[in-house]
Amino acid sequence: MSIQDNILEIETQIESACARVGRSKDEVQLIAVTKLHTPAEINEALDAGITDIAENKVQEILNKYEAVGDARWHLIGHLQTNKVKYIVDKVAMIHSVDSLKLAKEINKRSEAIGRTMDILIQVNSAEEESKFGIKSEEVDSLIDDIVNECKYVRIKGLMCIAPFEEDVNDCRPYFAEVKDIFDRYKSDERDAVDFEFLSMGMSGDFEVAIEEGSNMVRVGTAIFGARNYRQEEK
Ligand SMILES: *Cc1c(COP(=O)(O)O)cnc(C)c1O
Repeated sequence: MSIQDNILEIETQIESACARVGRSKDEVQLIAVTKLHTPAEINEALDAGITDIAENKVQEILNKYEAVGDARWHLIGHLQTNKVKYIVDKVAMIHSVDSLKLAKEINKRSEAIGRTMDILIQVNSAEEESKFGIKSEEVDSLIDDIVNECKYVRIKGLMCIAPFEEDVNDCRPYFAEVKDIFDRYKSDERDAVDFEFLSMGMSGDFEVAIEEGSNMVRVGTAIFGARNYRQEEK
């Protein structure tokens, strides 16, 4: 199957998942996760209608940025504060904010170039040791701190990576917990809090994530095929 066929297939699956819970497919934004894939492959996805692409590493954005056509770039991986300056002028949204320290650096670098950065708070609702993100009960205080200290950051919602489960249905409670927090913030009227995006679901679990309320799915393997991790050793 070509990249274009894969995208069509995923769009159909998104539509079916939406239909199962009475939602419209237009509510869900598909983001193509392009890590370890080439600009040529990424451009093929853009030609097939993809508008939003995501990388988990700053270096990969820098390596590919010039060779990739018009797209909105998202950073979805752990971000070190000393690397914010390299991408602050390149990405539309950072999904992986999980500390005030990082938010303050994003704020400082955004102010310096005269923009406001859209961010998501990464919530590790399963409390997996191996994953980044904050616990659900830490969300309120982090949001309060960012609102108070970061004028050039706008909190657009939440991001969650579910644990790998043999039965994907076992991910549902982790998604549902983050959806509950998301719903609570939709009525927040502070200027810096403008909840719009609930970024949950990857190749293996995006249908379940949509059924649990996600409106932004990050899909890599199902679009581009398996990643060649050996490339990373170069
Ligand atoms: C790699 C990655 C994805 C995509 O994973 P696939 O299983 O290839 O769809 C989604 N989100 C994050 C944060 C990732 O690092």
